Amino acid sequence: ERRFNIPHLTDIFKDLQPIPSTFCLRSRTPVSEDFADGYPSDAKWHGYINNNDRVLLKVIHYSSPTSAGAECIGPGCTWVEQWVHRAGPREKIYFKPEKVNAAIVTCGGLCPGLNDVIRQIVITLEIYGVKNIVGIPFGYRGFTDKGIKEMPLTRKVVQNIHLSGGSLLGVSRGGPTTKEIVDSMEERGINMLFVLGGNGTHAGANAIHDEVRKRRMKVVVVGVPKTIDNDILLLDKTFGFDTAVEEAQRAINSAYIEAHSAYHGVGLVKLMGRSSGFIAMHASLSSGQVDICLIPEVPFHLHGPHGVLRHLKYLLDSKGSAVICVAEGAGQNLIQKTNAKDASGNMILGDIGVHIQQEIKKYFKEIGIPADVKYIDPTYMIRAVRANASDGILCTVLGQNAVHGAFAGYSGITVGICNTHYVYFPIPEVISYPKVVDPNSRMWHRCLTSTGQPDFI
Ligand code: ATP
Ligand code: MG
Repeated sequence: ERRFNIPHLTDIFKDLQPIPSTFCLRSRTPVSEDFADGYPSDAKWHGYINNNDRVLLKVIHYSSPTSAGAECIGPGCTWVEQWVHRAGPREKIYFKPEKVNAAIVTCGGLCPGLNDVIRQIVITLEIYGVKNIVGIPFGYRGFTDKGIKEMPLTRKVVQNIHLSGGSLLGVSRGGPTTKEIVDSMEERGINMLFVLGGNGTHAGANAIHDEVRKRRMKVVVVGVPKTIDNDILLLDKTFGFDTAVEEAQRAINSAYIEAHSAYHGVGLVKLMGRSSGFIAMHASLSSGQVDICLIPEVPFHLHGPHGVLRHLKYLLDSKGSAVICVAEGAGQNLIQKTNAKDASGNMILGDIGVHIQQEIKKYFKEIGIPADVKYIDPTYMIRAVRANASDGILCTVLGQNAVHGAFAGYSGITVGICNTHYVYFPIPEVISYPKVVDPNSRMWHRCLTSTGQPDFI
C-alpha cells in the first residue's frame, strides 16, 4: 500500500507517544496504481485539512474504577483517550474530477434529512468539477433490477429536494449480492459511490469496498450513516434523530391531551428504537409529560407487585391519567417471537405497543376500574417529515465531508460528528454492534428522575 503513496491512516499514529487505552483506527484506503501522488485540487476551499489532523474523541479521567462508566476501561487504568481523523477538504486529491463517475444510493428505511444529504453531495461534487453524477433508485436493488433506470443528478435537479421528506431516490431492503453490485458498478463505470443507510447498508458498503479492492478497481466507497435511532457507535448523533425527537414529542403531547381529557385516561405512544431506546428516552426527557418510559435496554415486568400495570393503577389513583412511552424493541421477551425476517434479514419484531394496550385493558377490567387507553404509533409520520434546522445543518456538513473524503482517496469510510467535530471513521469501527442506552448512564437516570417511575423488576 505504501508504494502508491496513498494517505495511510495508520501512519498518522506512528509517532504518537503511547498512552494507556489509546484508540487508533486502521487503514481504510483503496489500492490502485492510478493514485500515484495525487493532484492539486482545482476547487479552492477556504483552508485545507491536513491528513495528520486528529480529533480528540474522548478523554476522561476516572478517579476510581467504580465511577459511572468506568467499566469500559481495563483494571488499574483510569485514563481513556480516543482519536479520530478530521474530515474536510484536502489539498491533494486522488481523482481527476472530469474522470469521476459518481453514484449515490439510499437504502433501508426513511429518515429525515436523506434529501439534504443527497443535495449536498451533488452540489459539492459539482464544485469539484464533476460532471457525471447519477442516483441509483430504490437502494441496492437499483443496481440490478431491470426496470429501474439510474437518475442523472445535477444542482438543478436537487436544488429544492430538501424541502420535503423521504428520499428523492427511494429506498428498499434486500437486493443483489455484493458481486452483482460491483459488476454493475464496473459496467456503469462508477468510481465514486456514496451510500446512505444504516448498519445493514454500511455492512453492504464495506463488502463493496472489499470487493473493489480485491478487483483492484480505482473506486472509493463512502458512507453517510442514516439511523433515526441514533444507534451508531462513537458518533455524537446521526442525522434525523433531532427531528425524530421533536416529532415524537408532538405525539407524546397529543397522548397527554387525550389521556388528560378522559376519565382514567392512559396515553400510550410507541416510538422507533429496535435495539436502542434513544428516541424514547430523549422524547420523554424533552416532553416532560411521560410517566413511564420503556426501552429495550431495561427489562421490565407488566404484572406483579413491581410491574408496570400496578404503577399505572397508582398513577390513575393519584393523578387521574398517565402517559407511557415505549420503544418498539422494548419488552420483546414478553411477546411471542415470530421468527419472521424482512428482505434484509432483520428480525421482524412483535408489536409491544399493541401488547401493552391489550394488557392494560385486561388488567383494569379484571380489577373493575375503568381505564380509557389511547394508543398512538406515529412511526411512519415521524420518518417521513423533512429535517429540522439542526439536522439540516448536520446533513449539509456530512454530505460535503463525504465528497471531500472521496476525493482525498479514502474508501470504506463513513462520516460523522464526534465530540462536536466532524470526522471520518473506518466503517467496521462503527457497525460492529449498535450503540445502546447504558442503563447505568447519567442520562437514563435523569430520565427516571423526570418520569418518576420505579424499577419494574
Ligand atoms: P435501517 O436503519 O433503516 O434498518 P439498514 O441500512 O440497516 O437501515 P437494512 O434493510 O438492514 O437497512 O439493509 C439495507 C441494505 O443493505 C439491503 O439492501 C441489504 O440487502 C443490505 N445489507 C444488509 N445487511 C448486509 C450485510 N451484512 N452485508 C451486505 N449487505 C447487507
Ligand atoms: Mg438496520
